[in-house]
Amino acid sequence: MEHYDIIVIGAGHAGCEAASAAARMGARTLLLTMDMTKMATMSCNPAVGGVAKGQIVREIDALGGQMGEVTDLTTIQFRMLNRSKGAAMWSPRAQCDKARFSQEWRHRLENTENLYIWQDSAVEILFDHSGAKPRVRGVKTRMGVEFGAQTVVLTAGTFLAGLMHCGRANATGGRAGDAASTGITESLVAVGIETGRMKTGTPARLDARTIDFEALEPQYGDEHPAKFSFSDATQPVQRQLPCFLVYTSKEVHDILREGFADSPLFNGTIKGIGPRYCPSIEDKLRTFADKEQHQLFLEPEGDGTNEYYLNGFSSSLPYDVQMRALHRIRGLEDVHAYRAGYAIEYDYFPPTQLRHTLESKMVDNLYFAGQINGTTGYEEAAAQGLVAGVNAALRVQGREPFVLQRDEAYIGVLIDDLVTKGVDEPYRMFTSRAEYRILLRQDNADLRLTPYGRKLGLIGTARWQKFVEKKSRVESLLQYVRSHSVKICEIQNYLISLDLPPLAQGCKIFDLVLRNGVSLAGVIGALPRLAKFVDDNGIGESEIEEAEIEIKYSGYIERERLVADKLHRLENIAIPADFDYASMQSLTIEARQKLMRIRPTTIAQASRIPGVSPADVNVLLVRFGR
Ligand SMILES: Cc1cc2nc3c(=O)[nH]c(=O)nc-3n(C[C@H](O)[C@H](O)[C@H](O)COP(=O)(O)OP(=O)(O)OC[C@H]3O[C@@H](n4cnc5c(N)ncnc54)[C@H](O)[C@@H]3O)c2cc1C
Repeated sequence: MEHYDIIVIGAGHAGCEAASAAARMGARTLLLTMDMTKMATMSCNPAVGGVAKGQIVREIDALGGQMGEVTDLTTIQFRMLNRSKGAAMWSPRAQCDKARFSQEWRHRLENTENLYIWQDSAVEILFDHSGAKPRVRGVKTRMGVEFGAQTVVLTAGTFLAGLMHCGRANATGGRAGDAASTGITESLVAVGIETGRMKTGTPARLDARTIDFEALEPQYGDEHPAKFSFSDATQPVQRQLPCFLVYTSKEVHDILREGFADSPLFNGTIKGIGPRYCPSIEDKLRTFADKEQHQLFLEPEGDGTNEYYLNGFSSSLPYDVQMRALHRIRGLEDVHAYRAGYAIEYDYFPPTQLRHTLESKMVDNLYFAGQINGTTGYEEAAAQGLVAGVNAALRVQGREPFVLQRDEAYIGVLIDDLVTKGVDEPYRMFTSRAEYRILLRQDNADLRLTPYGRKLGLIGTARWQKFVEKKSRVESLLQYVRSHSVKICEIQNYLISLDLPPLAQGCKIFDLVLRNGVSLAGVIGALPRLAKFVDDNGIGESEIEEAEIEIKYSGYIERERLVADKLHRLENIAIPADFDYASMQSLTIEARQKLMRIRPTTIAQASRIPGVSPADVNVLLVRFGR
């Protein structure tokens, strides 16, 4: 039997990050996937990032993951969303060339040291039952091959017992064009792991040759596009493609409603719970019954294909109903579809059965990541894959586990939410889920996380050196503006040019930049001695922007930091893993039940469990804290 340190099952967004990280950390890793021509396939929309998801990709990149670079190299349109809002809300989003995205990932994985690839379907996870708890020992495939492993990372996405629906028709499959995966769920249930069903859906894909683009409103990318990766390995996109806006109408809605009786969503065929925030068009018509129009986006699937994705029109209505409705949309009167929209149901495993490392609580050395944990989205999957792969490698190497806190990263929020609160519908990230939004900005992801990436062994020396230099340049600029003052006469013309009142007296440059309407770049332009400092120290545009955000939000940042530090005290009060909650009569029955099920590792985590009240937390504090 061939033996590996780590076997990663599935080469989706979670599996690719997991395998890449584990191998680059030095673990002998096998990536076992059903079809190696479909690595990191974007099963749904051809885009990476967006609100809160864009921040996650920046964090993956800062930690040394690959999604940021792969996205940059395959971007066909880039937009920084929410530019008009505060910096905490800025969210990068890129349309990608789907085929190139997948090829780029495959190229990287095939050329990663310590990483081996095997194309096959895992049908069983093998366990060693000799200890108190089962422990993984390997994986068996459909071709009858058995591989041994110290740790296994499962990232099977939407494939486990996948069932696709289009109207009254259904077929087994992991997604259109792929077989479903069977056997794994059964082998996990046999060792006591709970499972459930979820569902998601996707819209029809359209042939550009049959779309009347002249009738549609284009939506262009940013004039000065940015990029995801903090590394120098990529550049902002040079040539961008537009997306297009299209609108439904009352007539379109009437046609869609004719199909409701045959909708697997509404006639009880689909049992799984779908993503509330990514609803199908039929869900939207039900929820917003009075709305006469919905905006949709036509997004190119690549720059070498005629395929377009109709964002917002996800549906599992019968194919003919979908087509009749599409033909009533302006610009799509003669449209031909490459494939219909459909919904898919699949097995997932409630994530409260996991530790913060994403290791199973029931089975030693078995890690879960991605859609199988009840999340939705490429970014959420990739982030979990990275954390699971890193922790599997750390386990093999006998090193301390890696866990991000809620005030350190959206990834920390994501995983803590999953393992503490669980999911009752597919979980996607939002900025509102993070209590420390000002701390967790996309611009400072590298400052927050690159030191961890370096410590883990995922950030090379050259990149680390560049990071250290950048950090020191930003700090030196902040130090300069905090310690140097500006005189009234020096800045008068600049303020007049902005229609701002003159200074009443000289002040620190820092306080000047705090004023509404004043920008750090503007002050640098107006103050030759500051411009010289910037020049002499080679401080670049992005570093100036970073320093400006630190200045403008300094009050909020300080406040969030204080609250986060307070909470850290609770994070530091540990609860023993085998603590007997049943004996604590002063806890409410609900709290006792929830605490026994989730088994929080700290008082802070206990306080976040729904059903554990502040009074229960006080009881725990008396017992474990003070
Ligand atoms: C129809 C559809 C619609 C979707 N709609 C949305 C949406 O609207 N919004 C959104 O955010 N996300 C959507 N998604 C989900 C999105 O595709 C996933 O969130 C993301 O791909 C999850 O990544 P993953 O790595 O967990 O799994 P996947 O990307 O699904 O990858 C799983 C991988 O595991 C492999 N695999 C599975 N079983 C085995 C096995 N037994 N042995 C070996 N290999 C195996 C597969 O071949 C695949 O490579 C949709 C997905 C589908 C299929």
